[in-house]
Amino acid sequence: MCGIVGYIGKRQAAPILLEGLKKLEYRGYDSAGLAVRAEGGGVSVVKTKGRLSRLCEETADGARLAGTCGIGHTRWATHGEPSEENAHPHKCMDGSVTVVHNGILENYRELREKLTRKGYVFYSQTDTEVIADLIDYYFKKYRSGPVDAIARFMSRARGSYALAVLFSGYEDIYVARKDSPMIIGAGRGEHFIASDVPAILKYTKRVFYIDNGELARVGREDVAFFNIDREPVEKQSVKVTLDENAAEKGGYEHFMIKEIHEQPSTVELTLNAYLSGGAVDFSECNVDDGFLRADAIVVVACGSAYHAGMTLQYVAERLARIPVRVELASEFRYRDPILAKNTLVVAISQSGETADTLAAVREAKARGARTLAVVNVRGSSIAREADRTLYTFAGPEIAVATTKAYSAQLVAGYLLSLEWGRLAGRLTAAQIAEYVAELRTLPQKIKDILEHKEDIQKFAAEHATASDVFMIGRGVDYTVCLEGALKLKEVSYIHTEAYAAGELKHGTISLIEEGTVVFGVMTQGGVLEKTASNLEETRSRGAYTVTLSFAGEKIAADAEVALTVPRTDELFAASLAVIPLQLLGYYMSLQRGLDVDKPRNLAKSVTVE
Ligand code: GLU
Repeated sequence: MCGIVGYIGKRQAAPILLEGLKKLEYRGYDSAGLAVRAEGGGVSVVKTKGRLSRLCEETADGARLAGTCGIGHTRWATHGEPSEENAHPHKCMDGSVTVVHNGILENYRELREKLTRKGYVFYSQTDTEVIADLIDYYFKKYRSGPVDAIARFMSRARGSYALAVLFSGYEDIYVARKDSPMIIGAGRGEHFIASDVPAILKYTKRVFYIDNGELARVGREDVAFFNIDREPVEKQSVKVTLDENAAEKGGYEHFMIKEIHEQPSTVELTLNAYLSGGAVDFSECNVDDGFLRADAIVVVACGSAYHAGMTLQYVAERLARIPVRVELASEFRYRDPILAKNTLVVAISQSGETADTLAAVREAKARGARTLAVVNVRGSSIAREADRTLYTFAGPEIAVATTKAYSAQLVAGYLLSLEWGRLAGRLTAAQIAEYVAELRTLPQKIKDILEHKEDIQKFAAEHATASDVFMIGRGVDYTVCLEGALKLKEVSYIHTEAYAAGELKHGTISLIEEGTVVFGVMTQGGVLEKTASNLEETRSRGAYTVTLSFAGEKIAADAEVALTVPRTDELFAASLAVIPLQLLGYYMSLQRGLDVDKPRNLAKSVTVE
């Protein structure tokens, strides 16, 4: 999950590494470190606990570490508390091997014991230090060089890793990867290593993708790739199309609010990519009727993508009458799932690197299902492994809490649902054209909501000290509550729970006290009164109630506050109703003086399970 950066060339490495790490800090930020090789000499390491700015201070923005080859890391701790000692880079016992690592070495205990028996002594609690020592052990035992030592490590390791390694006495950087992302950028007389493209966009747009189970020697002038049997692998670089500026704040105070504001264009771009006139057209991603036609759909996803999947379920079942099941990818992969014949598995992930979702795709393929990825990052692992990929057009999303990528996923879900509806013979071309026309109004309606964001800001200012918030709704509104509650709790740290409105009285209502804030999301006509009654039930027990409905809707509840969004078709309501809740999370977080773009304990793309 962390960020890895590497540089080898003619320029000073440390400032380039720090700049790259800044672009990746959203991936993990409990500590950071650099290792730079001095000209013809040893490797110096500087590590600091906490945010990257401390490492910048400590190294005088890199000036204190001279050398033209180095590796850097921002950590998202899995093994061992966030501390200077546990921060990367890690050195082996005699200091001759230096490693940065993204991922988890699952058999680290067993390997640590083995190494302890061989006389190795450990200074940290990390699994990564074990990697450094094990590579050192093979390096010294077989004396066959760095590629051989790393390949031997790879044969022994279980788990996931992206590694960048420096060896004393060797000029180059060595890298390896399994189930954790990593790319190599090619410049003139220089090369870059990164766990994510934005880190190196400023320097080059030509990248090599290292595949799973491969390793590479990265020099100034050349890169050589190998498979785990040490056989050379031929590779061509590809040009990435990302725009560096897209990963900058562009005048906004935080990435989250910038990305909230980008949603009209995200929605529009994603619609434009797959609409042709009044119909859906997936030909660009090679998704034809034969591929889409299925007897059952299973969606696998995590976090907000799972919520987008829940919305897809409600919409697709309504429009197409095909059974849709939504599963948490982390459950799906281990529970021996049953996939009926002709099931299409849809995997949703912003980064396309989500470890559990990737594993779920593999599981589905192994069971003979067709797999369709809905991902935002081109060339990502899930995009490469799924049978087909429907890209969302959110651009780089930097804030840890997703907003625009989720909105784009919703759109992908609507478009898929319309296609399934057509294939099932349940929607005529004219009906589809009507839905499409409505979808095309969403960008402007989102803009209209954003124009009134001060209402939410004011609400946040008044309720920033709330300790518990509940969000209730039915149908699509329930899926909005799930996402709204996640947004609020992840960035404001206020305990927030989403509940299907009808479920509240089966236990949760006992948590309602005088002043507890309860949101009733109410856009679904058929169940409006039901949710209104449930909201009233909480109000009778002292709750401070807020309704969120379509403008002009008559709501039979005497709520303390009434929020509205423009009217749209009920099926697409999530795209609008979620916006005030995203804003709520953002402003609550600011009110509470928190770092909204980098909430504690989280990281952006979750590449560990
Ligand atoms: N497992 C390693 C650690 O805890 C690497 C974590 C990461 O990917 O940042 O240090």
